[in-house]
Amino acid sequence: MTVPQAILGRLKDAVGAKGFCTDPAQIAPYLEEWRGKYQGHTPLLLRPATTAEVSAILRIAHETGTPIVTQGGNTGLVGGQIPFHGEVLLSTGRLNQTAPVDQSGMTLTVEAGVTLAQVQRAADDKKLLFPLSLASEGSCTIGGNIATNAGGTHVLRYGMTRALVLGLQVVLANGTVLDMLRSLAKDNSGYDLKQIFIGSEGTLGVITAATLKLFAKPDVSVTALAAVPSPAAALKLLSALQARTGGMLSAFELMPRIALELVTRHIEGTRDPLTAPSPWYVLMEATGGGDCNLAAGFEAGLADAIAGGMATDAVVASSQTQAAALWKLREGISESQRREGASIKHDIAVPVATVPDFLARATPVVEALVPGARAVSFGHLGDGNLHFNFSAPAGADNAAFLAHWDAVQQAVHDIVQEFGGSISAEHGIGAMKVASLPRYKSHGELDAMRALKAAFDPKSILNPGKTVPPVLRL
Ligand code: FAD
Ligand code: ZN
Repeated sequence: MTVPQAILGRLKDAVGAKGFCTDPAQIAPYLEEWRGKYQGHTPLLLRPATTAEVSAILRIAHETGTPIVTQGGNTGLVGGQIPFHGEVLLSTGRLNQTAPVDQSGMTLTVEAGVTLAQVQRAADDKKLLFPLSLASEGSCTIGGNIATNAGGTHVLRYGMTRALVLGLQVVLANGTVLDMLRSLAKDNSGYDLKQIFIGSEGTLGVITAATLKLFAKPDVSVTALAAVPSPAAALKLLSALQARTGGMLSAFELMPRIALELVTRHIEGTRDPLTAPSPWYVLMEATGGGDCNLAAGFEAGLADAIAGGMATDAVVASSQTQAAALWKLREGISESQRREGASIKHDIAVPVATVPDFLARATPVVEALVPGARAVSFGHLGDGNLHFNFSAPAGADNAAFLAHWDAVQQAVHDIVQEFGGSISAEHGIGAMKVASLPRYKSHGELDAMRALKAAFDPKSILNPGKTVPPVLRL
């Protein structure tokens, strides 16, 4: 599509000289995502600095039917932030103001372009915690986290992003500003409109600011890596440790042996801290107050687990540096897979208790489709969310391996469906999965999604073609 020059001119006027860019060299980093999987193009990058400017942009876009793609930190993994068809790109990078922390109310209001790491630091400076934690936290923005309802490693204890948002400011497709920056724990005054925009992936409105929920910062944190014989044993360990710690686990991450091997091969400064290899590992963390004897309960629980065969060995971090070293083993998996070669990835969820059965059923199906594919299935066991990934066989041709993507994805997603699971646990639908969504959602659910899209964005100018599948006309 080509946006007429006259409309581009009006959009530029709406933001002033500092608020737009047409230089291809400066725009280039916004057009490619970090894996290099998607590439877009745009005639104009808009960088509004205020909600009023976002509103002015959308009023013009709505009036003229001009498509807009919103982008935060450009770390999304399903192509939602990429303008594939020459849409105008709206970056939230200059919406970067942070209000002072409300310490007694334990809330923080920030603009959408503030990075997750900045939010975490602002809370930490006041001895409070914003618990959302992702490997991309240095670059991803709070607006992007909210738009994708991001998950990460602490969902087990604190929930997804939607559980951490008290208020939102959103600009609708027609430029109307919905100012819902309330800081209320309780608000049943009609529909909870903010939740409609959380996880809507830029298709229903542009999020310009949010009021976030903060938590008391735990003063004790125990981190351990346990070797476990199987995913089923890991599940038993999860229940046992939740019971021993009174539900204080904040992370419970499953990793296969190959993940540890890839990380120690490719990520500098990492090493296997246990003496003997194990088929599976769990990285876990428990956090709490200083008086609750958490560390003693946690370590006693681990000792019992080893005695009972749920784990074969474990190392408990005795300092923050050691805890960080253990976390590096988990957080380095995606990067080490990237350095190892091509991989076919899935972000799926199944009911927690069925994770071992799912792995046993789905892994051989992929191995039969692509002989030699190496299963690197890891993830948030406590949430039933696996990054069910496969690396290309060692020395294989990357392109030939990736040619299997669609067949492998469909086979895996069909099994996920049998298990009553989700084909996207935390990354969203975006461009990557929009075509396959109708296979896994009922007509009723799809029609309800389309009705919402039509109500909030009747001209379909916001991220057109993504997340909401069109009606198929035969
Ligand atoms: P972008 O990538 O810029 O955009 C993502 C989507 O949100 C797009 O559809 C875009 O249009 C929309 N959007 C962005 N900002 C706004 C706004 N202000 N208003 C409306 N729509 C908007 N995700 C997880 O959930 N859990 C993880 O553990 C995790 N780990 C990751 C690790 C790595 C190394 C990487 C690269 C990514 C990871 N992600 C993870 C994915 C990604 O970081 C998240 O989806 C993140 O929330 C995206 O934020 P962003 O600011 O980069 O958004
Ligand atoms: Zn994840």
